[in-house]
Amino acid sequence: MAKTAGKVLNDPQIGEVVFRKSTRCRSIGIRVHPVKGVSVTFPYILPYAAAQAFFQLRRDWVLETMARQKARLGNVHVASAEEIEDLRRQAKSVLPPRLAELALRYGFVYNRVTIKHNASNWGSCSSKGNINLNLNIVRLPAVLQDYILLHELCHLRHQDHGQAFHLLLEHVLTDNIVKLMDDPGPDADLVSELARKAAVSKACYPLDHVMTREIKKYQLV
Ligand SMILES: [Zn+2]
Repeated sequence: MAKTAGKVLNDPQIGEVVFRKSTRCRSIGIRVHPVKGVSVTFPYILPYAAAQAFFQLRRDWVLETMARQKARLGNVHVASAEEIEDLRRQAKSVLPPRLAELALRYGFVYNRVTIKHNASNWGSCSSKGNINLNLNIVRLPAVLQDYILLHELCHLRHQDHGQAFHLLLEHVLTDNIVKLMDDPGPDADLVSELARKAAVSKACYPLDHVMTREIKKYQLV
């Protein structure tokens, strides 16, 4: 057997963290599993203290991952046909006017907007300039609804997810979040939290990064 029994650390917030030496593993790895819990596997020659120090450095990441998993599992729910129709009605009344407003503000011209229901994407944009929006978008807070809409609008100019696309998207996201902060709505707390996270993010495209992470907490129904 490659793995040995290992030691258990009791973290006040995380609970049990299992530290396990392995003859097979060449670097330290932390695993966060919704059912099996948190484990740290590291090379045989490394002392436990080194693995624990590594874990302490990544502790915030572990807590974030656990919170994200919990939110995702908490969201698992099979929607009824009635619920879907309700979402469709909301989506039809809310999304096309908001898309038109954002397009006008940032100078985008699209052909047609369609509200769709599918389990594979939040939205899409065809080369003919037709935008499809998933009715699930209305389940998101307004700032994240805008993210999807702006993402699809930017595809009118750049079909791929290359640098030009991302620079444009980051530009409009920045302008939009400033406007949302000036005119706080029901998700004002989330807006300022995302802005704060983006300000300290080391990602290339910080607003895109923090918003896509936030959207991952929601599942398409
Ligand atoms: Zn895209």
